[in-house]
Amino acid sequence: MNADIEKLLVAQKIDKERLQLVQNLEKGKIKTELDRASQTIDNSKNSLLQLESDAKMLQDNYQKFSKIISDTLTQIEKAQNNHSEDPDLYDEFLSKLTKLESQLADIERRIIQKTNLFKTTSMEGAKASAMLKNISKMYEEAQKAVAPKIQAMEQQFNEKVQGIDEKLLAKYRAIRKSKGSDIKDVVVPLTVDNRCQGCFMDVPSALVNKIKTDGWVTCDECGRIIYQ
Ligand SMILES: [Zn+2]
Repeated sequence: MNADIEKLLVAQKIDKERLQLVQNLEKGKIKTELDRASQTIDNSKNSLLQLESDAKMLQDNYQKFSKIISDTLTQIEKAQNNHSEDPDLYDEFLSKLTKLESQLADIERRIIQKTNLFKTTSMEGAKASAMLKNISKMYEEAQKAVAPKIQAMEQQFNEKVQGIDEKLLAKYRAIRKSKGSDIKDVVVPLTVDNRCQGCFMDVPSALVNKIKTDGWVTCDECGRIIYQ
């Protein structure tokens, strides 16, 4: 095996441990709760906006109906002043007025409902904000706690890869950077039937030959570093 690959394999083991630490933090309980609290806050913000626009519409309707009622009352007054004796006219006004008042009461009820909902949603949002603050602090502390370990591992990695082919190292770093912990190994062996052990695609014979001369190639399919 190529000596640089040998060094890189040792370094890769350390790199994987480092990634595991990062992953524990990213997929851990604190992060999950942090994401959940952020989601709750976003949801309540959206609900509050919706409630505000609903309330605005109801207020407009309330004003509209109030105006119609006052106009109707004016009409009744006018009819009275004109000494209208038509009882049907009064009945008509009265029934119109009753209907309008019931509609107004309904709007009022809905305004109260929306107001109450607004209050509870605001309270939930405030609670989630307070929680988010606490969890953020916990998350920061967890990050701080693990930071020195991660740093030490990065340093160990750098020591292990000292002196190896720069092109090979740059390839490794680029793949790790783009794939993160989505892939376990960046450096993989060629299988006995000439496949890449990362993606299990056939490696063309020209590349297999290149592995024999150069010690490694990058996989055409997945970009991993293949050695033999
Ligand atoms: Zn591959």
